[in-house]
Amino acid sequence: MAAAGNGKRRSNEVRVTGSCLCGAVRFTAAKEPRRVTHCHCVMCRRATGGAVATFATFASDTVEWTGPLARYDSSARAWRGFCPTCGSSLCFGYNPRPERIYITLGVFDDPNAWPAGFHDYREARIDWLHVDDHLPDAKDFRKPSPRS
Ligand SMILES: [Zn+2]
Ligand SMILES: [Zn+2]
Repeated sequence: MAAAGNGKRRSNEVRVTGSCLCGAVRFTAAKEPRRVTHCHCVMCRRATGGAVATFATFASDTVEWTGPLARYDSSARAWRGFCPTCGSSLCFGYNPRPERIYITLGVFDDPNAWPAGFHDYREARIDWLHVDDHLPDAKDFRKPSPRS
């Protein structure tokens, strides 16, 4: 973890950071993620280009963005955040829950610090993909249907 540099850092304080591929868009979260989830739905796969999309859930008011975070409305209720220069997929937002933001774990500076704890839409998993198969489904975490 990077030093805060203000000399008054409390031991329970965290600072989670990350950036897009070109570095134009960065985020800093002042609190640790509430959870980290592998999402197997087809919309997240297409949005990120990955065989699975792993997101860390944060309280929106703890996250600060710098740079030109662009938005694509991927459905009537959800949007995807990305870098308009390099195209990195950065986050997912669900309009009915603006108090939360889901940031792609692959853009974290230190993804090792935040292992996944759940799966979402496991029924849509690519057949040959086996990652963290032992983790439970995120039953209390319902994103919109991929087609909503
Ligand atoms: Zn970029
Ligand atoms: Zn998804």
